[in-house]
Amino acid sequence: MTCYKLCILISLVVVGYSNPIPPPIDEKDVTMAESFLNKLYPLPEGLSDGTQRSSSMSLRLKEMQTFYGLKVTGNLNEETLNMMKKPRCGVPDVAAYSVSRVDYKWKTNDLTYRIENYTPDMRKADVDAAIQKALQVWSDVTPLRFTRIFSGTADIMISFSVRDHGDGSPFDGPNNFLAHAFFPYPYNDIGGDAHFDDDEDFTKSNKGYNLFLVAAHEFGHSLGLQHSQDPGALMYPNYVYRDVNTFALPQDDVNGIQYLYGPNFDETSEETPDETSEETSGETPNETPEETPDETPDKYPPTAPSTPDKCNPNLVLDAVTMFRGEIMFFKGSFFWRSYPLSNTVEHHLIKAFWPEIPDNIDAAFESPSNDKVYLFKGEKVWALYGYDLARGYPKHISSFGLPNEVKKVDAALFDEQTYKILFFADNKIYSYDEMTRRMDEGYQVKDVFPGMTGKVTAAFQYRGFMYLFSGSKMFEFESYYKTLFRVLDNNYFLPC
Ligand SMILES: [Zn+2]
Ligand SMILES: [Zn+2]
Repeated sequence: MTCYKLCILISLVVVGYSNPIPPPIDEKDVTMAESFLNKLYPLPEGLSDGTQRSSSMSLRLKEMQTFYGLKVTGNLNEETLNMMKKPRCGVPDVAAYSVSRVDYKWKTNDLTYRIENYTPDMRKADVDAAIQKALQVWSDVTPLRFTRIFSGTADIMISFSVRDHGDGSPFDGPNNFLAHAFFPYPYNDIGGDAHFDDDEDFTKSNKGYNLFLVAAHEFGHSLGLQHSQDPGALMYPNYVYRDVNTFALPQDDVNGIQYLYGPNFDETSEETPDETSEETSGETPNETPEETPDETPDKYPPTAPSTPDKCNPNLVLDAVTMFRGEIMFFKGSFFWRSYPLSNTVEHHLIKAFWPEIPDNIDAAFESPSNDKVYLFKGEKVWALYGYDLARGYPKHISSFGLPNEVKKVDAALFDEQTYKILFFADNKIYSYDEMTRRMDEGYQVKDVFPGMTGKVTAAFQYRGFMYLFSGSKMFEFESYYKTLFRVLDNNYFLPC
C-alpha cells in the first residue's frame, strides 16, 4: 500500500516537473516581439511586407534565436520572450543590411569626445569619471587616445535624452533599451555619437544600470565594433552587471578592437618579450589547469578574461545538475544548458539569469520533490525556482543536515530511486533523506563507488546512471548497484 502511494507520488512529481506547462503568450507579448525584431533584426531590403510577412517573422525569430544561442524553433516561446525582455543595447544585432558592409573604423588614433549634457541621476563628477573610465577600457588595449573638448563638434558626442530625440531611433522609457551609439562614419556628424536613455536609473554602483558598463559597451560601437555572440563579451547586447572595481576587458573584445586598431604600442614597447612570458607562465599555474599556456600568446593585457570553451579536453567543470529535463553545467561565471533531445547547447553568464548567484559555485542538484535547483558555494546554499531565486535564501548548508566539520560541498546529486541527496565532500559521501530530513553517517566515496579513486568535483543522475566528474573525466556508474560502466570525456553531454 505504501509502495502504491509512493509510486503515484513519484509519477505525479515526475509529470509535474518534466512537462511544465508554458504560460500562454498574450497579444501584448506578440506586439513587443514584433517591434523587437523590427528594430534589431530588420527585414532585408526587397522583402518588406505583404504575404511573406509571417514566414519572415519566423525567419527573423530563428535569426534572433541563433544569435543568442537559444533553441532554434522559429516560434515565440517563453524562453525567447524572456530573452527579449532583458535590458540591452538598442543597436541592431545584424550588421546593416542596407549599407554595404565595410569595416567601420576611425582613420586617426586621436579622437575627441564631448559630454553635451548630464543625467540628474548622478553627480556630474561621477558621470565624468564613468565616461573617462569607459573610454580608457579601449585606449588601454589600442593606440587610440581620447581628448575631452567642451565646445564644438567632437568625434564622439555624448548625450542623455528620453523618447524621441531627433535621430529616428526614439528611446522606450524605463528598462529594455538603455542606450545606443553610431558606428564611425565619415559622411555625417552622428558617426561615433553615443546616446543614453535618461528614463533609466544610471548609477555608479550595482543598483539600476551602471553608467560605466553601459558607456563602455556603447563606445565599442563608437569605435566600430558590432555585437558579439560571446555571452562573456562586453559587446554582448544584453546588460549584465559585473564588478566594476575588478573589471578587465574580456578577451573577445580585446581581439575585436585590436583587429581594427592594433595593440597598444606604448605598453608592448615598455616590456621586453622575455619579461612578459616569464610573468605569464609564473602566474598561479595550478589554478587554471584547463588553459594551455600557448592559448593566448603575447596578448595584452595578459589578464583579459576568456569565455570557457566546452570543447577544451582539459576543461574542469564546477558543478552539474538536471534542470527541468535539461542538464546545466557550471564553469566560472558561466553555465551551459544542454537539451539532450534536441542536441542544442546554450551558453550564458550566470549573472545574466540570476544576478545574486556567485561565480565559481561548488555543487548543484535538482530536487524533483519541490522543483527547485540548489546551488552551493562555501557554507551557503541558494535555491532557484525556474528563472527566479527562491525566497529565504541563501541558507547555511547545515539546513541539509550536513555535519559541522563540512565547510564546503564538492558535488551533489539527487538519487531518484531512493529520494536521497548525495553530498560529496573531500573523500566522503553524506546521504540525506529529503522526506524524513535525516542524514546518514558519512561513507568513503571509494566504498560506495568502487573504482572512483579521485576527488569528485561534480555529479548528477540521468536516465538510471550516476555521472561523477573528477578532473576532466566523467565516470558513469549504474545507479542501483554502483558498478562503473565507462570513463568518458567531460564533454560527452556537451557535444562539440
Ligand atoms: Zn550594443
Ligand atoms: Zn539616439
